Amino acid sequence: MHDSLFAAYGPQHWWPAETRFEMILGAYLTQNTSWKAVEISLGNLRRAGALTPDGLRALQLAKLQELIRPSGFITRKAPALKAFLAMLDAEFSGSLDRLANAPTAQLRVRLLSLPGVGPETADAILLYALGHSVPVADEYLRRIAERHRLIHPAPAKNRRGYDALVQLTADAFSADPAPDRARLFNEFHALTVAVGKAHCRLTPSCSGCPLACDLEESTPRA
Ligand code: SF4
Repeated sequence: MHDSLFAAYGPQHWWPAETRFEMILGAYLTQNTSWKAVEISLGNLRRAGALTPDGLRALQLAKLQELIRPSGFITRKAPALKAFLAMLDAEFSGSLDRLANAPTAQLRVRLLSLPGVGPETADAILLYALGHSVPVADEYLRRIAERHRLIHPAPAKNRRGYDALVQLTADAFSADPAPDRARLFNEFHALTVAVGKAHCRLTPSCSGCPLACDLEESTPRA
């Protein structure tokens, strides 16, 4: 799937952010909203000088809520961003480098313990902002994997369903050299979002989809 999608769409250059901290903000803000809405919020934060830890630290909670209003859920997302910052300051001296140097498993558990951080957000932060080699799964990948009969259907947002997708992705790239895996996980996630938006929507549009051949060859997963 990766190779077919890469041949069709080319490199996706994800995550769309200029800095690691901006990427982390985007991972929080994109929950349950469109990327267009996130871009408006990030633009507001940029103009307010709040796309850095120092800038965000200086913002009052009410002001932060106002700036991220376009991406919704402000009473949950603004305190969640402040909680991330508090953890960064208290446990990693405010340093994203120190945070990134923590062991993957330990860091994932810590991120998941923060308010407003589910597995998809934690894994996106680990992979895209902190450079850890972990797969990221999302609704697009779930749809594709179910339609290609690679996993059994599970309710949306089901934690076991998420873990199954992550395992499926990890297994699929397990033969690739370890140093390449973070790049492959990065590109594959971005490519599945691209095909999800273009073809694998709520009603699939398989005609012309780069994965249409693969669909014909798919067999049920035991
Ligand atoms: S071939 Fe159809 S089911 Fe498969 S990814 Fe494309 S749109 Fe989705």
